[in-house]
Amino acid sequence: TPVLQQHFIRQIVRDDLASGKHAVIHTRFPPEPNGYLHLGHAKSICLNFGLAGEFTGTCNLRFDDTNPSKEDVEYVEAIQRDVKWLGFEWAELRHASDYFEVFYRSALKLIRLGVAYVDDLSAEEVREYRGTLTEPGRNSPYRDRSIEENLDLFQRMRAGEFADGSKTLRAKIDMASGNINLRDPALYRVRKVRHQNTGDAWPIYPMYDFAHSLSDALEGITHSLCTLEFEDHRPLYDWCVDKVDLANDPELWEPLVEAGLPTAPSKPRQIEFSRGNLNYTVMSKRKLITLVSENLVDGWDDPRMPTIAGVRRRGFTAAGIRLFWERIGVSKQNSTIDMSVLEGAVRDDLDGTAPRRLAVIDPVRLVITNLDEAHAESLTFPNHPKDESFGTRSVPFSRELWIEREDFAEVPPKGFHRLKPDGEVRLRGVGIVRCDEVIKDAAGDIVELRCALDLDTRSGMPGADRKVKGTIHWVSARDAVPAVVRLYDRLFDVTDPDDDSDGKTYKDHLNPNSRRIVHGYVEPAAAGADREDRVQFERLGYFVADMHDHTHASPVFNRVVTLRDSWAK
Ligand code: ATP
Ligand code: MG
Ligand code: MG
Repeated sequence: TPVLQQHFIRQIVRDDLASGKHAVIHTRFPPEPNGYLHLGHAKSICLNFGLAGEFTGTCNLRFDDTNPSKEDVEYVEAIQRDVKWLGFEWAELRHASDYFEVFYRSALKLIRLGVAYVDDLSAEEVREYRGTLTEPGRNSPYRDRSIEENLDLFQRMRAGEFADGSKTLRAKIDMASGNINLRDPALYRVRKVRHQNTGDAWPIYPMYDFAHSLSDALEGITHSLCTLEFEDHRPLYDWCVDKVDLANDPELWEPLVEAGLPTAPSKPRQIEFSRGNLNYTVMSKRKLITLVSENLVDGWDDPRMPTIAGVRRRGFTAAGIRLFWERIGVSKQNSTIDMSVLEGAVRDDLDGTAPRRLAVIDPVRLVITNLDEAHAESLTFPNHPKDESFGTRSVPFSRELWIEREDFAEVPPKGFHRLKPDGEVRLRGVGIVRCDEVIKDAAGDIVELRCALDLDTRSGMPGADRKVKGTIHWVSARDAVPAVVRLYDRLFDVTDPDDDSDGKTYKDHLNPNSRRIVHGYVEPAAAGADREDRVQFERLGYFVADMHDHTHASPVFNRVVTLRDSWAK
C-alpha cells in the first residue's frame, strides 16, 4: 500500500467529516461514453473511488451521456470493464440520460422563476452577442420574452416543433459578467438525434453545466471533483444547483422515485484539480480515436496506447497505476509527468509480485562439451529472490543451451564481463563455463559456442563459490518452448507529440521502432503461464502473457517494462 499524500482535496474531505458538514462523503466518476478511458481518466478514477474507499463513503459511476451523437455502447461497456479492472467498485451505475425528465422539469422551473428564456438567435449570433474578455456582451432581443411565452416555446421545443439550432433555452444571468460562462449560458438546445439510451424520446438535450450540476445534486454527491478547466464554470454550477434547489422541491425528482431510484439531493461542492498529463503520448479522445480509425495502431487495446485497455494488454498492473497516481498526488499545478515515473511505479509493483523465469530472446546455441548428449538434470530455482513464499520450481538443464547472443563477444569491449573466447562466465544456477571454440556459418555468423563446464563449481562442490565477474541466463535447448516476444517502446518519439507549432502533428512523430517482434525460447514454467500472468524474465525485464494470443503450446509475451529505465540517457 502506497504512502498517502496529504493533498488538498483529502484535507477538505477530512475537514468536512470532522466538522460534521457531512456524515459520509459521496463522489462520482462521470465519463462521457465517447471513447475509451485513458491514463488521465485513471487519475480521476483513483481520486474519486480512492477517497470514497478511504473515508468509507461511496462513489458512483455515472455516464455523462447527454450529448447523443458521439456516444456508443461499445464505449459504455469498455468503461465499466476498465474501472473494474483498475480495482474499483461503484455504489451505483447511473446515466445522466436517466435524469432527462428531471432536467426538463428543472428548466421549466427556471422559466417560471424568470431566470431562463428561449432565444431565437443563431449560434453565430449568440457568439457575436457574447462579447469578449475585455468587452461586455449585449442582451439578446429575445431576452425579455414573458414567462408565458417562454413556457409555451420551451414546451414546443420539447414537442419537437423546432429545427436543430433554431432555438435555445438560456439562463438569464448577466451579459456583462466578467465571467463569460455567466453571460446567459445555454441550458438546452434542439437536436433531433437518436440517443443510445433514450432513443427518440427527446428532441432537446441539456447542456453540460446544467446537466452535470443537477446530476451531482440528484445523486447526493458531496464533493464533485473535476479538472481545472471547469474552475470558471463553478459559479454557473452553483447557480444551477441553487436556483433549481432540488433538495427543497421533491416534485422535480418525483419521476426518479417512481422509477425506483432513491434520491436525497445535496448541495455538492465542486473542487478542481489539475489534469494528469504524460509525455511521449497523446490523451485527447479525438487523437486516440484517429489512431485507431486510421489503423496507426492495432485497436484500442494496442499495448502502445495510453488507454486503460492498452496498458492492461501491455502488462501494466492496476496496482502500479494506482501507485503512480498516488505518488503524483493532486494539486492545482498543471504539469507533464515523465513516462518513466509511471514505468517506475509499475516496475516497483512487479518487482514484488512477478515470479522470476528464464527466457532467451535473441538466442545463440551453447554446447557443454564435457557433458553427455543424454545428460538431463532438473535444477531447483527460487521463484522470487526476496520472497520465499513464491516457492521454487524445477528448471530443466541439459548439454545444449540457448543463451543471449549479446552475452558473447568475440572482440569484447572494455569492461565486458560476460562470455568471450577463452573467457569464463557463470551460468545462472549451474556453474562456471569456459568458451573453448566459436563455430560460425558460411556467412561468418556465430552459430554455436562450445564450452567446458567446470564441474568443481557446481552447487555443493568445493569450488561452488569461485568468483567470476559475469553471470548469464540460459534455457535448455531440448526443453525450452519457442515463444513470440513483442518488445514495445514508446508510441511517439518526441516528448510532446501534441506540439504542432513546427507544422508537424502527432501523426508525424510516430516512433517507427515502437514494436519489435522477436522469436525466442522460454523455460517450460514460463510457457505454462496463463494469459495476463506477469513474470520477470531474469536480466530482460517484466513480461506478460498476452491476454488474447498466448497459449501454453505457443507462448506470446509482451514486454511490460525493462528492468531499469533504459530510456533516460
Ligand atoms: P477528452 O477531453 O479527451 O474528451 P474528457 O475530459 O472530455 O476527455 P470525460 O469522459 O468527460 O473526458 O472525462 C471523465 C472524467 O475524467 C472527467 O471528470 C474529467 O475531468 C476526468 N479526466 C479526463 N481527462 C483527465 C486527465 N487527463 N486527468 C485527470 N482527470 C481527467
Ligand atoms: Mg468531456
Ligand atoms: Mg474534453
